[in-house]
Amino acid sequence: MQKINIIGGGLAGVEAALCLSRYGLKVNLFDMKPEKFSEVHKNENLSEIVCSNSFGNMSISTSSGLLKKEMEILDSEVVKTAYSVKVDAGGALAVDREKFSYEMTQKVKKDNNINIVRRVVEKLDNENIWIVACGPLCDNSLTDYLQKEVFDNKFLNFFDAIAPIVYTDSIDTSKGFWGSRYSDDKDYFNCILNEDEYNEFYENLISAEKVKVKEFEQNYFEACLPIEEIAKRGKQTLLFGPLKPVGLEYNSKRPFAVVQLRKENREGSLLSLVGFQTKLTYKEQKRVFSLIPALKNAEFAKLGSLHKNTFIDSPKLLNHFLQLKNRQNIFFAGQITGVEGYMASAATGIFAGMNIALLVKGKNMMNLPKNTMLNGLVEYITTKEGEFQPMSENFGLVEPIKMKNKKLRREKQAEIAIEHMKKWREDYESIIT
Ligand SMILES: Cc1cc2nc3c(=O)[nH]c(=O)nc-3n(C[C@H](O)[C@H](O)[C@H](O)COP(=O)(O)OP(=O)(O)OC[C@H]3O[C@@H](n4cnc5c(N)ncnc54)[C@H](O)[C@@H]3O)c2cc1C
Repeated sequence: MQKINIIGGGLAGVEAALCLSRYGLKVNLFDMKPEKFSEVHKNENLSEIVCSNSFGNMSISTSSGLLKKEMEILDSEVVKTAYSVKVDAGGALAVDREKFSYEMTQKVKKDNNINIVRRVVEKLDNENIWIVACGPLCDNSLTDYLQKEVFDNKFLNFFDAIAPIVYTDSIDTSKGFWGSRYSDDKDYFNCILNEDEYNEFYENLISAEKVKVKEFEQNYFEACLPIEEIAKRGKQTLLFGPLKPVGLEYNSKRPFAVVQLRKENREGSLLSLVGFQTKLTYKEQKRVFSLIPALKNAEFAKLGSLHKNTFIDSPKLLNHFLQLKNRQNIFFAGQITGVEGYMASAATGIFAGMNIALLVKGKNMMNLPKNTMLNGLVEYITTKEGEFQPMSENFGLVEPIKMKNKKLRREKQAEIAIEHMKKWREDYESIIT
C-alpha cells in the first residue's frame, strides 16, 4: 500500500495532513524540528508563526478575507484554530502565536491517522506519495536533492526579487503611453517623468526608509540589487537602468525618464513595475512610487520585496493539481510553490490534500472553480508565462466582472466566489464519499 508522506509540519503541511485524515487516510508528517531549526523557526510546535501574528483582513471584500472564507468552506483547520485563539486587532484576524501553534500541534497529535516523525527528510522515493511543504527556508539537504535528482539543476530559486504590482484600472493613462522599446508592440505601459518629476522621485527614493536585511539574508542579494541601491550609485544610474527612456518615443520625442509597467496576467488587470524590486518599507513604497505621475492614485495589488525564499518554478514544474508533471507521486504545497504568506500557503495545503484523497480513492482529481481566489492563485503559479516570482492573493487574480464601484464590485466578486466554492465542496463530497 502506498504511504502518504508530508515533508514539513508548517502551515501547509499540517493543513494537508488534517485534510487527508478527515477523508480517512493515514499520513506520515515529517518535520525536522526540534532536531534542526531553520534560521527563523524557534518553537518545537508545528504550524509555527515566524513573524507577524496577523492572518490579514477578515472582510470578504478584501483579498485575504475572501481567501480565508473560501478556506473555511474547505474546513481549514488553520482558519478555525485562528478564530479560537484570536486577539483584538481591528478588522484583522490576529492570533496568540504560542496558543495557535500549540492548538494546531494538539490537533495533529490527537489524530490517530497522523504519524508525526521528527527528522530531516533528505530525499524522496518513487513508490510513495509525497507532499513537499518544507517552506521558504527548506533544509539544504532536501533542496540539494531536489535540485540534482528531480529538477535537473534548474527550477529552484533561493530568494525572491519582487517588484510592486498595481491594478491596471487604477493608473492614470494620460501620464504615459502603451508601447515597447524599439518596436511597434504595445506590450508595456510607459509612465513618463520629466526632469523635475524625476529629480523629486530620485531624492525621495534614496532617502526612503528601508526594511533591515536579516543576517541570514546578507549573501542573497548580490545578484539582484534593489532599485534604491542602484539609485545610490549616482543620480544618472537609474536613467541607464530601470528608468531608461531609450528606444521609446512619445509625440516624436524621447521622454526624460520612463518607468515601464508589464502585464502580469493574461487578462492584463495587473501590471508590475519593471526592475523595481526593493527593500523599502511598504509604507514608503506607496509614498515614493506614487510620485510617478501615472501612479499618483495607483492601487497596489502587491508591494515589492527581496527575501531569502526557496521556491520552485511552478509554472514549468507543476500541473493544476500542484503535482509534478514528470513525477506524479510528488506534490508541492505551501510557500515553496511560489504563493506567499501564511494563508495562501495553508490554502494550497488543503487543495493538495483534497486532491490526493481523490487520487488514492481512485477518483479523478478536481480543478477549483474558476471565479475563486484560491483558483486564481493556483492558476497563476501554474501557468504564469515568462519570469516567475511569488504571488499573494489579490483581486487581479479573480475573474473580473463589470461594475464601476470598486467596493460593490469586490463584494459581488466575493459573493460569486463563495457561492462557487460551496458548490464545488458539495460536488467534491458527493464524489469522494
Ligand atoms: C523571515 C520571515 C518572515 C515572514 N513573515 C511573514 C508575515 O509577516 N506574514 C506572512 O503571512 N508570512 C510571512 N512569512 C511567510 C510565512 O512564514 C510562510 O508563508 C508560511 O509559513 C509558509 O508555510 P509553509 O507551510 O509553506 O512553510 P513553513 O511554515 O515554513 O513550514 C515548513 C516546515 O518544514 C520544516 N522543514 C523544512 N525542511 C525540512 C526537511 N527537509 N525535512 C523535514 N522538515 C523540514 C520546517 O521545520 C518547518 O516547520 C515570513 C517568512 C519568513 C522566512
